Amino acid sequence: MGFESLQISEPLKKALSSSVNSGRFPHAAILEDEDSERLMETAKTLAAALVCSGDDKPCGRCINCLKARSDSHPDIKIFEPDPKTNNFKVETVREIRSDAYIVANEADRKVYILKDAQNMLVPAQNALLKVLEEPPEGVCFLLLTDDKNVFLQTVLSRCAVFSQGGGRRVDSGVFEAARAVAAAVPEANEYPLLAATAAFEKDKTLFRAVLQVLPEFFRAAVLIKSGVEAPEEYKTEAQKLAGNVTTANLMRMITCADDLAASFERNENYTLLITRMCAELRRASGR
Ligand SMILES: [Zn+2]
Repeated sequence: MGFESLQISEPLKKALSSSVNSGRFPHAAILEDEDSERLMETAKTLAAALVCSGDDKPCGRCINCLKARSDSHPDIKIFEPDPKTNNFKVETVREIRSDAYIVANEADRKVYILKDAQNMLVPAQNALLKVLEEPPEGVCFLLLTDDKNVFLQTVLSRCAVFSQGGGRRVDSGVFEAARAVAAAVPEANEYPLLAATAAFEKDKTLFRAVLQVLPEFFRAAVLIKSGVEAPEEYKTEAQKLAGNVTTANLMRMITCADDLAASFERNENYTLLITRMCAELRRASGR
């Protein structure tokens, strides 16, 4: 019943296992996979690992693992959207919130699995945000989704993202341009960042595409900060960011990239946007 038996990518198995076994699993995580059955299997295995009292979690032998396996662990709760509307009710989120403040029954922590969390409209996400902002001790929320981008930036920035991935392919030119920006942000002075963003002056399409990819580097750095291995393609720059920027500032940088993307869609002055990109990313990074 361990991570090994799951039909997910090796890096994802490793990331989940090392995060739980290092004792640094975050209080909220988004699990992303287009295959909903595989996603639930992953979530249940992860939940077992989170309540497991043995070594090499999930050990598969302790009472917590056995109960988790038979779907009867009192500290693992699964919630899903209202079958009538297919949306998460705000009341359901409130119910989760008040339950989260009651201490765990048998394990050291309670795990909430939110199935099809992509079906959560803004009011429900805002209700959830309140508990994500000040999570009670010993609680872990697992948000299951086929697409993490449906979440509000405020929700996304408070969750570690574990993605099965494979669905999205990034153009290599875009990826390289985003990588150059990610590498330049933590530099001591602003010149490398000015040089990296010069490529956008004559290419608005590139600018827009880079703003979609850039936060992935920042998220990977947040993962490293919480003891999780970053995805291979983001690793080098993410390690550099993690070594130079605080988690709070990495979160600010994610928000900053999102704000810039929103300004672009509103057709704000393009030359100013590139200047803002440099200044605001630097400021958000604490440089
Ligand atoms: Zn166990």
